[in-house]
Amino acid sequence: MEASPPASTMEDCCVKVAVHIRPLIGDEKLQACKDCVAVVPGKPQVQLGTHSFTFDHVYGSTATPSSAMFEECVSPLVDGLFQGYNATVLAYGQTGSGKTYTMGSGCKDGGQTGLIPQAMSALFNKIESLKHQIEFQLHVSFIEILKEEVRDLLDPNSSNKSDTSNGQNGKVNNIPGKPPIQIRETSNGVITLAGSTECSVQTLKEMADCLEHGSLSRATGSTNMNNQSSRSHAIFTITVEQIRKANSSDSNSNESMGDEYLCAKLHLVDLAGSERAKRTGSDGMRFKEGVHINKGLLALGNVISALGDEKKRKENAHVPYRDSKLTRLLQDSLGGNSRTVMIACVSPADINAEETLNTLKYANRARNIQNKPVVNR
Ligand code: ADP
Ligand code: MG
Repeated sequence: MEASPPASTMEDCCVKVAVHIRPLIGDEKLQACKDCVAVVPGKPQVQLGTHSFTFDHVYGSTATPSSAMFEECVSPLVDGLFQGYNATVLAYGQTGSGKTYTMGSGCKDGGQTGLIPQAMSALFNKIESLKHQIEFQLHVSFIEILKEEVRDLLDPNSSNKSDTSNGQNGKVNNIPGKPPIQIRETSNGVITLAGSTECSVQTLKEMADCLEHGSLSRATGSTNMNNQSSRSHAIFTITVEQIRKANSSDSNSNESMGDEYLCAKLHLVDLAGSERAKRTGSDGMRFKEGVHINKGLLALGNVISALGDEKKRKENAHVPYRDSKLTRLLQDSLGGNSRTVMIACVSPADINAEETLNTLKYANRARNIQNKPVVNR
């Protein structure tokens, strides 16, 4: 029997949006940049020049993604997995704003303090406390979307690998016998990634190894803004399957009739840099990548906006999930009966004020998402 998750409560109704302001870093300090982003004391409010925005949470220039950020933003999503709620955590912001650091999805930064490592620990702690009543199966996938192509970070040679700027990795393309990864939808609206590696993991160490392994193969390329700039969306997905035995004493029986089965997934998304293509000063190939990245982020913005529009929702209006690979992949975990948190990452430096303002506006627009039990698929 497949149990459906309980109906959302009021508290679950909105997408949570948090802002993370990192400290000034090396280059910005060298250029004697001024701090132009202010947090209103005691309020989740950010001021930039004459603009003021209120969010669900604001985290100032602390050195690491604090445990408060994890507890307030991500821990409820981890708990929701055990009730069958899909969830998505999105790190949004310009290149260099601290997305990878905050998520802990980089190979060097973040360490144990990033949101993904903290989520993994919390997940295993909870499993440890429940394992006598419930059988768990955990799977991990780690993919990136670059130029509207899905690439398997856990087995980078198996899928269609995109040419990267340094020319060293561009040899493999659609290896015969290994079809590219495809995003599919089952008849009951579950999104699957056909052809991607699904690692079955038993321990925290195995899961952490998958994160590290995938992070190392993530494509990077240089732009004027940051020579380790990431132009891809990286999506680390943890799938939790639970089988609650109806009659655990009947251990000889393979019959699962009467067992309760729940499955939920958590997407942890390190989005591509939100800066516009023209700011990267790119041309040719690189410019194309910029355009494609904008396509994903643009589609995400449109989906979020469609989900947040009360009038459109009442009319069961079209939600444009199909406009990009990113939104298609997140379709069953954005809106609907799922939980979403966006962490908008910003630099405090005055030289980045224009992009920071764009990020704050985008994040502010995202706050209007209302989740409802059924979305238009
Ligand atoms: P993005 O992924 O958005 O491009 P990164 O996460 O790579 O940005 O961060 C850019 C730089 O800023 C890195 O050198 C990183 O170490 C540093 N950084 C980011 N966030 C913080 C933070 N909270 N505290 C200290 N340094 C940070
Ligand atoms: Mg990054």
